[in-house]
Amino acid sequence: MVLGHDPVANWDEEIVHLVASGLARLAERVRADGAVRVPYPAALQRAVNRLTVLCQVRGLEPPTGVAELLRLAHQPFSEWPLRLPDDLVGEGDVLLSSGVPTRLCEEWALDVDDVEAELAERRVVLEVLHWCREMRDQRAYVGFRQLLIDKPVLDGDEFLDVRSEPDLAPLAQFIQQAYERPGAHLAAGGVFQMCGRCRNLSVPTPHGWRCVEDDCARLRYRAGRELPVGSEVWTVGRGLKAFVTGPGRAESRLLHWLAQKGYQPEAYPEFDVCDIRIPVPGRPGRWWAVDVKSWRNPALLARRLRRRPPQVPDWADRFFVVVDRERTRGRHGYVQLVSSLAPGLAEGGVVVRTEKTFLREDLPALRGEGR
Ligand SMILES: [Zn+2]
Repeated sequence: MVLGHDPVANWDEEIVHLVASGLARLAERVRADGAVRVPYPAALQRAVNRLTVLCQVRGLEPPTGVAELLRLAHQPFSEWPLRLPDDLVGEGDVLLSSGVPTRLCEEWALDVDDVEAELAERRVVLEVLHWCREMRDQRAYVGFRQLLIDKPVLDGDEFLDVRSEPDLAPLAQFIQQAYERPGAHLAAGGVFQMCGRCRNLSVPTPHGWRCVEDDCARLRYRAGRELPVGSEVWTVGRGLKAFVTGPGRAESRLLHWLAQKGYQPEAYPEFDVCDIRIPVPGRPGRWWAVDVKSWRNPALLARRLRRRPPQVPDWADRFFVVVDRERTRGRHGYVQLVSSLAPGLAEGGVVVRTEKTFLREDLPALRGEGR
């Protein structure tokens, strides 16, 4: 994109990266300390400095400091003094919601901190994967993934119980690492409250409890179980929540649906080569592979897929990247955008689909091919 003589033309995206990774770190710290403490993460101060220069060059009003930046982070990008390519910005995209980083914020943070964030967030999952491969224990791996998806919050007794279930007992130490104690900022009136829909912990706001999961936050809030602050409470760690628990709900839904319709799907086959595989009728040993993605921002997902293209297994007749319906609802052209920004995917035999297209158009063809 040519912006004429704009000396800060490349700064806009970098500023969003700085803010997003600063906010992700700030959230970690709030969880650990229970409150926002100065100094703020360096990335946030750097973002303010850059924004100040950028605003001066463009004759706009800069934010006065990090506190104002935090207020700005609750506003959609259209309110920011930034020029971001249309592709990168969705309507109503915000980095913070009730003081908690949104999924979009995690995506922006991951876009820049890729290696570092990936290692920290998925280390536990990779360790479990490694252990299960060594032990050839596919059941334990599937059980572990399903635990994180189905039970993002546990009380002390439940935490003890899951670690003594026959399938999960060998993974007890990893389960311990995957869960953490929630920060005090998530409590109000002496309790933590779970969202009645997604079962994650909600955040207290001046207007009542609120779910921070994007898909839930848009719907009417439904109160779930309450847990006293003084009791033992465990919740899935932040990074795992964004990249395992979140997409996991879509994976579970799809698996359940496929099983009900008699497709005989398999979860995380061969230790997570893909999320789901479905046998091709009449062709033993041949499968369709499906990876479920739950990215809010299609341009960031495309970058991610370019950087780490899915490996199509030998046994796969087709490989689908299926974007769950919460991400694509009301967002026209999501799939077209991902495909056009990551053209190498199609060449590698990978097709991007919405959940709806996959279910309505692709799956019937699978049965047709078998006949
Ligand atoms: Zn929820």
